[in-house]
Amino acid sequence: PKQNLADFLIQSAEKYPGHKALHFLGKELTYAELLEGAYRFARVIRKLGVSRGDRVAIMLPNCPQLVMAYYGTLLAGGVVVMTNPLYVPRELEHQLKDSGAAVILTLDLLFKRVQSVVPATSVRHVIITSIKDYLPFPKNLLYPLKVKKDGMSREVNYGETVHSFLKLMRAASGSPVHTEVDAENDLALLQYTGGTTGVSKGVMLTHYNVIVNTVQNSLWSYKTKHGEERYLAALPFFHVFGLTVLMNQAVMLAGTLLLIPKFEVDQILQVIDKMKPTVFPGAPTMYIALINHPDIHKYDLSSINICVSGAAPLPQEVQTRFEEITGGRLIEGYGLTESSPVTHANNIWENRKLGSIGIPFPDTEAKIVHPETGEELPVGEIGELAVHGPQIMKGYWNNLAETNRTLRGGWLHTGDMARMDEDGYFYIMDRMKDIIIAGGYNIYPREIEEVLFEHPGIEEAAVMGVPDKYRGETVKAFVVLKGGASVTETELEKWCRERLAAYKVPHLYEFRDSLPKTLAGKVLRRKLIEDDPAQQG
Ligand code: ATP
Repeated sequence: PKQNLADFLIQSAEKYPGHKALHFLGKELTYAELLEGAYRFARVIRKLGVSRGDRVAIMLPNCPQLVMAYYGTLLAGGVVVMTNPLYVPRELEHQLKDSGAAVILTLDLLFKRVQSVVPATSVRHVIITSIKDYLPFPKNLLYPLKVKKDGMSREVNYGETVHSFLKLMRAASGSPVHTEVDAENDLALLQYTGGTTGVSKGVMLTHYNVIVNTVQNSLWSYKTKHGEERYLAALPFFHVFGLTVLMNQAVMLAGTLLLIPKFEVDQILQVIDKMKPTVFPGAPTMYIALINHPDIHKYDLSSINICVSGAAPLPQEVQTRFEEITGGRLIEGYGLTESSPVTHANNIWENRKLGSIGIPFPDTEAKIVHPETGEELPVGEIGELAVHGPQIMKGYWNNLAETNRTLRGGWLHTGDMARMDEDGYFYIMDRMKDIIIAGGYNIYPREIEEVLFEHPGIEEAAVMGVPDKYRGETVKAFVVLKGGASVTETELEKWCRERLAAYKVPHLYEFRDSLPKTLAGKVLRRKLIEDDPAQQG
């Protein structure tokens, strides 16, 4: 097929030109305005030499410029490389070099960091935007220019290689641009993995991969209404979950994206109360933060209808309480960057099973295999989850060895341990890398975390293995208490003993104010180790 992923935007803008596409900091953009912005950006990067297959890095928090640049890059035939705005120079340099990006669009506030690594990369042009440069073009651009503390004004002429977004966008025409792509082979995204377990890898996702997964998602939430839903966009768009389940999905269904540049629980509550979003995809940590907010009952959260949690396990306790508070549905799904990302989900409306990631999406197959031999295992046995379907990546960028290790016979080996029940529902046990082996027993941290979560004084918990002279590894729990709660180690140990076999009970407990997380909301277990001198060596 010749379809471009950006056709979602063109179709919605044709059908609903006056519908609100984006809401950001009190301003709104219609679908017609968003599409015009995307056309302008496509022309801007073409003029800077970007042609079909070239990579364009976008390093921004959720904001309208990101959405315009994303679809604009696709319309120009380019490949989008989403870059985490929190990256330190080392991570940024790795990603820019590895992807071979020719252009990067970033914020003025991040310019110094970007500039410090650009000479070591293939980036030829840096485009700088300010968080307020999002208004429709060309009208409404008459606000006064402000000179920033570091001496950069919004419209200075930066020279040949560094450009002002605003200036380029104003100079470009907003008339249609469309590049025909080979949807099954041309990349739409070179999407880097979350880096939860190590160095992030570039995943090659075609237009077709992402189009299919967006359609699969919307089939799953079939009661969403075309042109009517309002999406709370709190998940970051630089992560594949936010990109597909939120941005592409909302644009395909001509919904309104309420853009949240940074997750702050007070702000989220206010936005829900005032802006009445109906769909709120999120990571478990977001729902946890909300249900534990002391003033949650002061806000009206009843507009929330559909929530899909992914990226990390959703504690059952959290699911139940969130549904009680909002009256909406919160279901769990599963996926990874390598599958655009969703492969499994519970049905939102019927037959869901708590604690399960649900069943495979339409056209998607899944099986449980022996992690070493690859042999399929019988129902109920724990093994590695392998998946097969139209949303699976072409491979890792510049990394054939890793591609061959992960994609075998058309099946993606996920690195996650799971089991399937007799009804075909899947349950994630844990990542293979996180399994604790203590005294010869395999222990799944997640099972212990669920038990800790049920404790009324605990807000968050992460369990991991730490080296132990006798047992090889021993179980340690990192715990964040709820405000005002006081719980001792002895009480926690007793709580666990009553609910878990002795070999699973954590012997070590550490109380923390918070747990280190990725911006996509996953607990960084390796960071917990780095922060703990007792565990090094
Ligand atoms: P890296 O591969 O670079 O270490 P990452 O694994 O975090 O980073 P992502 O593609 O962002 O990269 O995350 C995919 C992983 O997230 C899955 O392999 C799985 O371990 C975890 N995950 C996603 N959804 C769920 C879920 N519902 N329950 C448990 N784990 C989940």
